[in-house]
Formats: sequence, structure tokens, C-alpha cells
Amino acid sequence: MQIYDISLTIEPGMTVWPGDAEVILEQVATIGEYSQSNNSKLCMSVHTGTHVDAPVHFIPKTTGVDQLSLKILTGRVYVLEMLKTTLITADELKKAEIPPRTRRLIIKTRNSQLWSSKNKGFQEEFVGIDASGAQYLIDHGVKLIGLDYLSIAPYKEGKATHELFLKSGVVIVEGLNLSKISQGRYSLFCLPLKLLNSDGAPARAILIGV
Ligand SMILES: [Zn+2]
Repeated sequence: MQIYDISLTIEPGMTVWPGDAEVILEQVATIGEYSQSNNSKLCMSVHTGTHVDAPVHFIPKTTGVDQLSLKILTGRVYVLEMLKTTLITADELKKAEIPPRTRRLIIKTRNSQLWSSKNKGFQEEFVGIDASGAQYLIDHGVKLIGLDYLSIAPYKEGKATHELFLKSGVVIVEGLNLSKISQGRYSLFCLPLKLLNSDGAPARAILIGV
């Protein structure tokens, strides 16, 4: 059984969304005279690294990440390569030959290369899904959509895409590292932290080859 870890490592100094809190992960107790154990504290945005968006991220008075369906977050998934695409539109998706009845879709773009080039900082030119692409996937019954940068939508055009997906009950997974993954079918296990009413949560996401 081949297990592929498609999660980013959470570490101080990692790339975060502009304006979001920087990651603080620091040891507050060290084994020695005053402590029997090592102990650390963590402070970060809930949209750090590989993470899941909840409906309440864009739609007031809706559900938080603790209410998301684990049945959607785990199961068969199709990884689609769109390595030359700069904007994921309905037209691009039509050409892409997504297998019929795909309920979970992860799209690998040129974004995944950004994770290997260390410390380049936030890249505004990342590939995202526009509103037409979101509507296309909703119309074709997709219930989980994953992408390999910190937002599912192009920079500064996040509202329409997020609202469409979240109003339709589509689970959004962002910040995936797909650099070592090829197109094809896998099993997905994506488990966000169970944070009460939260608009997002970091997740460990893995693919298992089928
Ligand atoms: Zn997010």
C-alpha cells in the first residue's frame, strides 16, 4: 500500500496568506530541572498550510469546520493534472475529461512547484478556479474540491468562487502539496482539526494508491 502525504509541513516562517498570522511554534518547557517533559505552544491562522474551509468562512451564520461531513472528507478521489492552465474555468474543465461521477476532485497545477522553492514568499500569480469553473464542478456533482495553493480562487477574486462552493455544500481543501502526485484515482483521507464553529482548520491529508 502506497501512502502519499500531500500536506504541507507547519513551521515558523512558512508562506501564509497576506495579512494572516505568522506561525509561532515554540517550545515553552524543556526537560531538565524544572520540567519532566518538553512542551510547545502553537499560534497560527486556521487557514495555514494544508487546510479546509467551512461554510462560515464566507457565509455568515452557517456551519463551522467541526460540522463538516467525514464521509465527504474521506473516500475515492480523482487527481486531475492541469499543469499548463493559468486559470481554471468551465471551458478548461470541459476539456479536461474528468471521469463521470467524480465526487471528490483534486486539481494539480503548476502551483505545486511553488512548495519546493523555499522561502519565496507568497505568490500572487497562483492558479485558481474562477466562478464559471466552480459552477461547472457543482453542476457535475463534485462534493470536495482540492487545490495546491492557499486559496481555491485566484488572488483577490476569492468571493464568488468560495460562495458558490460553500453554498452548495462543497468541501474546499486548500494548500495541498501535489508535487509528487500523478494524475489518477486514489483514496483520500483529509482530517481537519475539530475546531468548534471555526471558519477553517488545518488538516493532515493523505492519498492512498488504488
Ligand atoms: Zn482557507
